[in-house]
Amino acid sequence: MNNDFIYFLGTGGSRHVMAEQLRSTGGIYFQVQGVKGIIDPGPGALTAMLKALPPLRPEELDGIILSHGHIDHCNDVNLLIDAMTRGGLEKRGILWAPEGIIGGPDQVLFNYLKPYLQKIEVLQGKSNYRLGNLTFSTSGVHRHGMETYGFSFDLPAGKLSFLTDTAFYPELTREYQGARWLVINLVLEKNCGGAQHLDIDGVARIIRAIQPRTAVITHFGKSILHRGPEQVAARLQRETGVENIIAAVDGQKIPL
Ligand SMILES: [Zn+2]
Repeated sequence: MNNDFIYFLGTGGSRHVMAEQLRSTGGIYFQVQGVKGIIDPGPGALTAMLKALPPLRPEELDGIILSHGHIDHCNDVNLLIDAMTRGGLEKRGILWAPEGIIGGPDQVLFNYLKPYLQKIEVLQGKSNYRLGNLTFSTSGVHRHGMETYGFSFDLPAGKLSFLTDTAFYPELTREYQGARWLVINLVLEKNCGGAQHLDIDGVARIIRAIQPRTAVITHFGKSILHRGPEQVAARLQRETGVENIIAAVDGQKIPL
């Protein structure tokens, strides 16, 4: 028995849900293989960490991983770097992000925070990275209008994958094949306008093909919240044959 878990700082995604804070948008905290980190700290990540019981301490974070530079995925990254390093008093922590977040015209990371970090590593597709005892890999570039990656953690009990924002494309099922836990961003009920997000049909195709032991849907847009994420999870169970499908809620801890 280990103490590994993921914790949902937020389960909201997309502009409307973020602006109205219908769900929190803080992304996912993880504690695995003795390391502590966050994937996609959107607005409210720090607040949600401190509100957790017991609180998740930002100064204990080992790393931050960003899938891409949309504001609902990265808004709190500067704040967390400041908190993680005690305002730069302690040089520590690693940031992983696509290149455009770290430099260039759409840079998200404040320059003055860069020296606070122990390391900044630019993410590339289908590559491997290490954080203490944890190794993880990136997917290929997702279809999402800007450079975006998903992540797969190698854990002793199996693969933990985070399938972040993307339009559906068939190779996704190959890229995340073998996931024992599949956390998947489900923004839309039905993708009618060619939005670069997954909808219920796309998520069903992916889960059916991958057959994870546990699938977790999160990052809900307004149409999913309107439909009811639990109802959507029940429908996905029927359509995919995967029994354990969880509709994540804010503040939910899932042991691994
Ligand atoms: Zn996005």
